[in-house]
Amino acid sequence: MTPAVSFQAISRHFGRVKAVDRVDLDIARGEFFAMLGPSGSGKTTCLRLIAGFEQPTAGHIEIFGETAEGVPPYRRNVNTVFQDYALFPHLNVADNVAYGLMVRGVGRRQRMQRAAEALDLVQLAGYGERRPGQLSGGQRQRVALARALINEPKVLLLDEPLGALDLKLREQMQEELKALQKKLGITFVFVTHDQGEALSMADRVAVFNEGRVMQVGTPQEIYQRPVSRFVADFVGSSNVVPPDFVERVCGKRAWGSLRPEAIRIDPPERGTGVNAQVLSSSYLGAATRLTLDAEGLRLQATVPSGTTVPQVGEAVALGFDPDALHIMEGEA
Ligand code: ATP
Repeated sequence: MTPAVSFQAISRHFGRVKAVDRVDLDIARGEFFAMLGPSGSGKTTCLRLIAGFEQPTAGHIEIFGETAEGVPPYRRNVNTVFQDYALFPHLNVADNVAYGLMVRGVGRRQRMQRAAEALDLVQLAGYGERRPGQLSGGQRQRVALARALINEPKVLLLDEPLGALDLKLREQMQEELKALQKKLGITFVFVTHDQGEALSMADRVAVFNEGRVMQVGTPQEIYQRPVSRFVADFVGSSNVVPPDFVERVCGKRAWGSLRPEAIRIDPPERGTGVNAQVLSSSYLGAATRLTLDAEGLRLQATVPSGTTVPQVGEAVALGFDPDALHIMEGEA
């Protein structure tokens, strides 16, 4: 099946800034796709290229198999939910939601009926008469979502839509968004710089850095088998381990990554022969995070609560299943 969105060697340069640099990407129909990367890595520019607010400097974009170049934003069957929601403060919630229909000349009665349905979908039934200023941040976010969904887009673009919310509400909205996407079956393209958010919500994640896609994969692939030091570092707090260490453990000379939760703390006489000293310890509730000096290499390990946690300064030996040491093939 043709993908919902296909980037073929897409670049978008602003003068000397390569905001997006030769990106190839296929986003499947009905997929929840996350674009993850640090600030300035080109995620928003990619979203704007899909929406049609930006034109590529080079390359080709297809949306549902059709060339996107030259097609204006309003004819792309794509809608965007912006981080700041961009609601009209002088219109009530129902009129905000129905705005896209009004522009298209849909009559008032039908508009209000569809707005009520869209508000119902985002669990805001009965809020139509309020002004945006009379809503909480989470409710405004839902209004922005309803306003995009009323247009029945085939692709919904979400640019850090939960960025303005506090942690608890953010987590609640993550679950709601995910459930809504499954229910509607619309392709969601979600931009975030929050690894946890991308991993927990997306079917697949593209990790961006400096305008390039470093890796595309399922959350499990990205988390457990990062191809490079950048991905290992950025996605979760993995330990990046140098070729010397990897060679000692498994005989192969390559960069590796080792998840903090994969490291076992053994008494000094046991373990894989890697001795370490505890440099610091921080209690996280469900686990304790230790920073270790393993013969000159700084490593993070998490020890689940309920097990014995060594003291700062104590000498320990590190144990781990050799399979837990992931070799990063993409790293020279
Ligand atoms: P953030 O998470 O901070 O929103 P991002 O990954 O979405 O970042 P982009 O907004 O796509 O990154 O920007 C990528 C690069 O392109 C940045 O260096 C940015 O300064 C630059 N850039 C984006 N838009 C323009 C523009 N209109 N003119 C000049 N440079 C731009």
